Amino acid sequence: MISVEEALRILLSNLPERKVEQVPFQSALGFILAEDLVATCDIPPFYRSTLDGYTVYAADVENTPVELRVAGEIRAGGGMPGKLNPGEAMAIMTGAPVPEGADAVQMIEQCEVLDTGKRVRILAPVKAHENIAPRGYEAKAGGIVLECGHRVGPAEIAVMATFGYGKVKVYSKPSVAILATGDELVEFDEMPQPGQIRNSNAHCLSSQLRLMGIDADYLGIARDNRDELRRKMLLGLERDVLIITGGVSMGEYDFVRNVFQDLDLKILFSKVAIKPGKPTVFARRENGLIFGLPGNPISALITFECFVRPVLGRLCGMTKPDLPRMKGELLADMRQAPGRTAFFPAWVAWQDDGWKVEPLAWKNSADIIGFTRANATFIFPKDRDFLGRGEIVEIMLLPDFFVRQR
Ligand code: AMP
Ligand code: MG
Repeated sequence: MISVEEALRILLSNLPERKVEQVPFQSALGFILAEDLVATCDIPPFYRSTLDGYTVYAADVENTPVELRVAGEIRAGGGMPGKLNPGEAMAIMTGAPVPEGADAVQMIEQCEVLDTGKRVRILAPVKAHENIAPRGYEAKAGGIVLECGHRVGPAEIAVMATFGYGKVKVYSKPSVAILATGDELVEFDEMPQPGQIRNSNAHCLSSQLRLMGIDADYLGIARDNRDELRRKMLLGLERDVLIITGGVSMGEYDFVRNVFQDLDLKILFSKVAIKPGKPTVFARRENGLIFGLPGNPISALITFECFVRPVLGRLCGMTKPDLPRMKGELLADMRQAPGRTAFFPAWVAWQDDGWKVEPLAWKNSADIIGFTRANATFIFPKDRDFLGRGEIVEIMLLPDFFVRQR
């Protein structure tokens, strides 16, 4: 049995090449850029007034109040203005180009309009360069504005529009298939007969994927026999990543591992010192990756976050896709049998002067109902059997931590 850290090391040394595609810039939201984007022009492209007021020579308004002749009005979008002569002012709007010669803009609140706009009284001095964004102040043509590897959010979309990028190169999202296994499973819209339960894992996993911006194909339920498993797995192997749940333990009908062998998949690990989730399997066929996650709902959820997310995130071009971790104070005594790194559901909240970790009651690794009360898990180190109230423990935030509420 390997440690969680060793499993991660194996996963990261088996990453296939990332794929790149070109998408319309509006569709790039949530993707990672696969190219540097350079400024296609200076921004601002002209000396730009940052507010509404009067543009002047700073030297003319050193001693105020002072009256100046108004030589015109400059509005945003009104073309480039003519030159401003010393001793004169021009009315100017936010975003409008400052005329040649002028070196400052005084805000409208410090200006009094006289003679129905023919003259203006400037009430306070303004320093040279004040309230003007020089040409190229925010970006110089040819300079990199967004680097390869940068995640695209709303501001990045604005930058693409600013520089006229109609299409951009991004890392492709991997294609993913989900396969549930188990003779006892029926679909959510079926009535379970005695001894049956509804398949919840496929839907949990596909939501976890959606939170990562990945739409997966659901291949249905494979029954616990080698033929059907082989047939459905072959379908899944047409995708970049296949995620299977159930059938990886040591039971008589846990055939997933056997079928991996039948299909000549290279099994890279098949047991991890993690709780829940010990029987997790990871295999590879050429560039295709296959995860066999345990069937218990919390085990499947946790092993997805610990092992599948770091891989898929990197395939999407992320450098640090792992769920964020932090530390907090445990609010209750906790015990566990040592030997495996354990992830226990918790409610983590900021109280007084720090993060407090309230361990949640959960019955076992099937108790997905109990798990719905968690916004995080805290990590019980594998060499410990007791953590005392007040101890500082490591926390792994769940992906929707910041929007979960109690
Ligand atoms: P297994 O890993 O196949 O031994 O399954 C372990 C436990 O998880 C069993 O109680 C299964 O009934 C349950 N289980 C397996 N697959 C699913 C699933 N897709 N949805 C809900 N429970 C499942
Ligand atoms: Mg099973």
